Amino acid sequence: MTAIKHVPFPNATIEGYPRVGPNRELKKALESFWKGRIDTEAFRSAAHSLRINNWGRLAELGLKEDYAIPADAALYDHVLETAVTVGLLGGDHAEVELDEFFTLARGNAERAPLEMTKWFDTNYHYLVPEVGDDEDYLARPQRLLDLFNEAAEAGQKVRPFLVGPVTLLALSKQAEGATTQPLDHLPALTKVYAEILKSLAEAGIEWVQIEEPALVADLGVASDEELAQLARQTYTTLLAEDAARPAVFLSAPYGSLNAGLQALADVRPEALGVDLAPQTLKDAPDYVERIIGAVQPGTRIVAGVVDGRNIWAADLRERLSVLEQISNADHEVSVSSSVSLLHVPHTVAVETKLPVDVAGWLSFADEKVGEVAALNTALRQGTTAVGEAFARSDRAVRTRNESARTHNEAVQARVANLPNGQVTRQPAYPERVEAQKVLNLPKLPTTTIGSFPQTAEIRKARADHRDGVLNDAQYTEALKDEVKSVIELQERLGIDVLVHGEPERNDMVQYFAELLDGFIVTENGWVQSYGSRCTRPPVVVGDVSRPKAMTVEWARYAQSLSEKHVKGMLTGPVTILAWSFVRDDVPLSVSADQIGVALADEVRDLEEAGIKIIQIDEPALRELLPLRAENRRSYLDWAVRSFRLVAAEAQPETQIHTHLCYSEFGQIIEAINDLDADVTSIEAARSRMELLGDIEEKFTSGIGPGIYDIHSPRVPEVAELVELLTAAAKHVPAERLWVNPDCGLKTRGYEETEASLRNMVIARDHVVENVPLKETVRN
Ligand code: GLN
Ligand code: ZN
Repeated sequence: MTAIKHVPFPNATIEGYPRVGPNRELKKALESFWKGRIDTEAFRSAAHSLRINNWGRLAELGLKEDYAIPADAALYDHVLETAVTVGLLGGDHAEVELDEFFTLARGNAERAPLEMTKWFDTNYHYLVPEVGDDEDYLARPQRLLDLFNEAAEAGQKVRPFLVGPVTLLALSKQAEGATTQPLDHLPALTKVYAEILKSLAEAGIEWVQIEEPALVADLGVASDEELAQLARQTYTTLLAEDAARPAVFLSAPYGSLNAGLQALADVRPEALGVDLAPQTLKDAPDYVERIIGAVQPGTRIVAGVVDGRNIWAADLRERLSVLEQISNADHEVSVSSSVSLLHVPHTVAVETKLPVDVAGWLSFADEKVGEVAALNTALRQGTTAVGEAFARSDRAVRTRNESARTHNEAVQARVANLPNGQVTRQPAYPERVEAQKVLNLPKLPTTTIGSFPQTAEIRKARADHRDGVLNDAQYTEALKDEVKSVIELQERLGIDVLVHGEPERNDMVQYFAELLDGFIVTENGWVQSYGSRCTRPPVVVGDVSRPKAMTVEWARYAQSLSEKHVKGMLTGPVTILAWSFVRDDVPLSVSADQIGVALADEVRDLEEAGIKIIQIDEPALRELLPLRAENRRSYLDWAVRSFRLVAAEAQPETQIHTHLCYSEFGQIIEAINDLDADVTSIEAARSRMELLGDIEEKFTSGIGPGIYDIHSPRVPEVAELVELLTAAAKHVPAERLWVNPDCGLKTRGYEETEASLRNMVIARDHVVENVPLKETVRN
C-alpha cells in the first residue's frame, strides 16, 4: 500500500456525531422548510451553520488532527445520502434537488415515501433504497467535495463518509417488478464507488471513511460467509494498489465480525475500525485476540473502545487495558467510538436537573469525545497526563457501584425468589377460554389498540400543565373530559371492547419511566429517530420498582362510564427497555424481570379495580432481537419470560391482550405465541395479511390481525375491510378472531378515525352475517 501518499490516520477519532444539533436546529430547519416558512437558501444556510458549529465543537473537544472528524452530516438520513451519492437513488440526472431528495424520504401526492426500518439493533430508522434491474448508476461525488471544502474554508480537514456498497445493497429491497436481487448489483455499484474515490483523490482528499456494518449482522439476505466473500471481492477491487483513491478507513460498527474479519483484514485497508464496546466484548470475548491475529502490518486498528450506544461514562482504566492489549501486540492503534455517536444526546452539560451523582455517571456525545481524547493521551503518554479525567472516571465507577440509587435490596430479593426458567400462567389457555366466557363478547369482537387521536388541545393542556398554567386538578379535569368523549365515541360506533384513549401519556414508555423507581428522565436528551423525528429515551439507572399504582385511576374512571369492558393498558418490559437507555452493570434480563414483577402488581391492582381485560403492549419485541442468530434463543427466552411474569398471577377470567407492530413477524411468530396472551393484536394491513399462513400454522390463541393501516389519514372502504377480514376468517377459527386496526390512533385526526372505525364495525357485521366462518378445530 505504499503507492498512496497520505497523512497518518488520526490517533483519536469518532465513527460519527449527532446531526440534529444541540438545540435540534436541523429538526427546526427541516420542519420550517417543509412548511414553506423558509426557502432553500435559508435551509441550506441553517444546515451549513450547524455543521460548521459541530465541527468546531469537535475540534475544541480534542479532535484536532487532520481527518479526525467524520463528515457524516446528513440532511435526513445517511443511508439516503449515500444511496443518492452513488446513484442507487435519484434517477439519471447529475443533481438531485432538495425537493426531490425529500420526496424520496417523505413521499408526496403521487409517490409513496421509501420504506423506513430500523438501523441494525438501534432506535434509528433509515430509508430502505429500492433496487431495480437497471445498472446505470451515476456517481455524484459533489456532495462529499462540498462538505470537505466547506470545512476547509473553516480551517479543518474532515473525512468524507459513505455507507459501504455491501451494506447499502444488503439493506436495500428489490423494487417491484425487478427480477434481480439488490446484491446482484454489487459489481456495478463497486465501479461507482471507485469513481467516487477517484474524484476525492483528485481533489486532494487523503482519507475517506467507509462503513460496513452488514458484516456484523445475520441479516438473512446472505450468510455471514457469503457477505464476507462479497466484501473481499469488493474491497480487493476498491483498494487495489494502483487505484487512484484516498487512504481508506473501513469500519465495522454495531457488533463483532466473524468471517468478515479475515476478509476485511486481508484486503488491507489503511485503517480498520472495530467495535470493542464492553457489550460487544461480552458477546464475543475472543474478539480482540482474533483482531490482533488477523490484521496485517500496514493496517492501523481503529479501536472503538468508547461505547457509542449507551450513555454511561466509560471505565477509562478498563478501556485503556483493551487499547494496551492491541498496542502491546505491536499493532498501530487509534482510539475511537464503537459506533456513531448519533445514538446518544449531545451533552450532559445542559442537564441541570439531574441529581449530581447521576450526572457524573453519564456521558453523552460530547463527553464521549472527551473520553476518546483522554484515552488517546493515556495510551501514548501515561495516565498521569490525564489524571483528572481518570480520577473522575474512577469516582463514577465507584459511586455508581455503591449507590443506593442503583441497588435496591428488596427488589433484588424479590427477583431472586422467582423461579428459574419459564413461568407459566395457570390454568392453560383452553381452560381460560372457558373462564372468560363470562365476558360475554360477541363473535369477532371489535376493539382498538389503545390510543385515540392526541389532539392539539391535549398537547396544549400538557404543555400548559408543564409550564404551570394549568394546575394538577385542572389538567386532570381536561384529561377526564377527553376520556369521557373517547368512551362516548366508541359507544356510538358500537365497538365491543373499549379503551380510555391514553390522553395522559406523552409517550407509552416515558409515561411508565416517570412513575417507576429506578429510572431517570432527561430534559434535553434528544436523539434522532428518523429525519426530523427525535425521541428522549429515559434512562434505567438502577433496580426498578413501582412505588404506587400507575394506570388504575384512569382505567377505573373510564370503566365507570360504560357497561362495556374497558381495557387496562400497560407497556410491557421489553418495550420499556427497548426504548430506554439501559444499565450496563447487569444483564438486560435482570431489568426485564424487575419491570415484569412491577407490572404484575399493576395487573393485580387493575383487577381489584374491576378491570376484566388488560393489554400489555410489546411492539418492540422484534426490535431487540440480537443481530447474531446464535444469540437469539437466549434473548427470546428472557423476553418472553418477562412478559409472562406480568400476566402470571392474573385470574383465569381476566383476559390478557398484547399488541405488536413495526416489523416482520415471520421470524418470531412462535415467540409471540409463547407469550401466552389470550388475545394478540398485530400489524398486518400494510402487508395485506401476509402473515396469515404463519398464524394459521403456529398461532393457537386469540388473534386480531390489523385490518387497516393507521399510518395514513386514508379512510378504508368497507369492501376492502371485508376482504381482509374474510381472508383472515379463512385462516383463523371464528372464536379466536378479533377485529382491530393495525396500531394505536394517536397520530390520527378524529375525523378519519371515526369514519374508519365506523367502516370497521360495518365490515365486521357484514362478515359475521354473510361469510361462512371457520369452526374451531381444537387439537
Ligand atoms: N397502546 C399503544 C397505543 O395505542 C400502542 C402503541 C404501539 O403499538 N406503538 O398507542
Ligand atoms: Zn402498534
